[in-house]
Amino acid sequence: MTKVYDRVALIGLGLIASSMFWAIKRAGVAGEVTGFARSQETRDTARRIGLCDRVCDSAIEAVEEADLVVLCVPVGAMGAVTAEIAPHLKQGATVSDVGSVKRSVIEAVRPQIPEGVNFVGAHPMAGTEHSGPESGFATLFDNRWCLIVPDGASEEATERLERFWQALGANCERMEVEHHDLVCAVVSHIPHLIAYTMVGVADDLSRVSDQEVIKYSAAGFRDFTRIAASDPTMWRDVFLTNKEATLEILGRFTEELFALQRAIRTGDGDELFDYFTRTRAIRRGIIEAGQDTEAPDFGRVKATE
Ligand code: NAP
Repeated sequence: MTKVYDRVALIGLGLIASSMFWAIKRAGVAGEVTGFARSQETRDTARRIGLCDRVCDSAIEAVEEADLVVLCVPVGAMGAVTAEIAPHLKQGATVSDVGSVKRSVIEAVRPQIPEGVNFVGAHPMAGTEHSGPESGFATLFDNRWCLIVPDGASEEATERLERFWQALGANCERMEVEHHDLVCAVVSHIPHLIAYTMVGVADDLSRVSDQEVIKYSAAGFRDFTRIAASDPTMWRDVFLTNKEATLEILGRFTEELFALQRAIRTGDGDELFDYFTRTRAIRRGIIEAGQDTEAPDFGRVKATE
């Protein structure tokens, strides 16, 4: 594999950044990979496990001379991180991110990017419920989508970033900002909210039924509990920054739920049967499209996002 960038800097060293590092090494697409995380604990862990060629004690040191800088912090922290590194970016470099929401990231980051530096947004649609520097693995992005949101960025910088993500195993697709945020609200953000809610409801119930809900939890509910174990900071930021799209989809979801509730109350079996037949066909379509691949089993993980 040929190198796409000489030097890559990863800012934030959690699940996504650590998976990127192992995938970069597997593909050999970068010369040196530097990394920075705000806490000493994470930097110590990264050094201990050999995550990054060089772990830096400041974000400024990590981005100096980097050809690609990837912001791998929660969406709500992207603006502050950019403010710190912006004056130290190399001319001609590209700044990108992996945030789950795009409008708010672009608004927080782009105005701070100096002349002569590119900003190209990206969102790998892959993840697990685990977080931190030790949770990453090289195959996380294999055959998953990486949505690229150029939003006016230079064609050359965008194509180069796509080559980079393809080398990490992902399939790239370009998207408009608003479309990205709406699609992600449907396929990822609201499903997570439902999982959080369902686990909360079951937890309340378990208090009156002697832990039965947990004890007898079948596959469906167990999947909810796995998704609901996802990082609280990341998901708080997703809902705070993708307010419009998530409220829009939540409104539609509530309407459908009321329709099903009415069908149950009135005993409308045809309505329920037709609804479930339609959703079953959608599920089959997902399998045929090859989007039900699970992350490799390290005894703990399944792809969620
Ligand atoms: P993670 O494992 O929790 O790691 C987050 C990293 O960001 C840590 O290194 C943390 O530093 C740092 N950080 C947290 N708050 C910060 C702040 N206020 N200022 C500076 N640094 C901060 O998170 P992740 O799952 O890799 O997610 C990173 C990004 O990827 C997020 O924007 C998320 O939306 C996106 N994403 C996540 C998934 C997923 O399923 N997890 C999928 C696709 C995209 P310390 O370790 O020092 O605390």
